[in-house]
Amino acid sequence: MNQSKQRLLLFVLCITLLLVVSARVSPAPPAEETEPVPDEREIVVPEEPEETPEPTPEATPNIRDILPDISASDWYLKLVNNTYVLPPSFTPPAVKEIQDGQYFDSRAVDALNRMLDAAREAGYTVYISTAYRPYRTQATLFYGKASQIAWGGEVEYADAEVLARQTVAYPGTSEHQLGLAVDILDSPDTAMTADALEFLPLYNWLRANCVDFGFIPRYPREKREITGWFEPWHYRYVGETAARYMMENGLCLEEFIALY
Ligand SMILES: [Zn+2]
Repeated sequence: MNQSKQRLLLFVLCITLLLVVSARVSPAPPAEETEPVPDEREIVVPEEPEETPEPTPEATPNIRDILPDISASDWYLKLVNNTYVLPPSFTPPAVKEIQDGQYFDSRAVDALNRMLDAAREAGYTVYISTAYRPYRTQATLFYGKASQIAWGGEVEYADAEVLARQTVAYPGTSEHQLGLAVDILDSPDTAMTADALEFLPLYNWLRANCVDFGFIPRYPREKREITGWFEPWHYRYVGETAARYMMENGLCLEEFIALY
């Protein structure tokens, strides 16, 4: 073995020894970090709260504050129901023929015709079942109904009148006598069954568009407790301003008039 080989061997031995020793003495590799990471929520320094703006007053517009400036005693807002009864002598100043042999208050007939025309343009057929109905016609209808119920003697006539009031308005309590109410159907053959007709496409259209012509659905289901009636076909002229206000604020005519 020559000298250079001896040196190389020595060098290799030294390196090996160094490696062995260093492996023995070097500390164990640090254990896996086991310290739980503090919950971020614990260390997050809460930011300075942003300056809270002055709380804006709750938007509770008093519907009285935005009441339209109209007179509730105007002819087109006249309230007729079981409490506000028209005398037999009441008639509108003038009526004008519309369609299907029916008549309407001449002051509002143009608005009605425009609404019916718009419905037709939207693709619906419209049939007017009833519009203006004089007191005597209402009386004939009502007493006819009561007589029909009492027919056969099973029901006393007085009780028959009470029962008749559930389906036919007592004379003087029907706003058809005003000449401002109209029963609209899609066909003369359609039976007036409120539950079945509530979402008739024609009525969906009317509900969405009637205010543009000054009409309201007068007896919607949700106001039956107040009005006494649920009739999806029955529309009432109240003028565009009042109609829009009532529809936007979810009021029936009774509730609207009570604000004045
Ligand atoms: Zn009606």
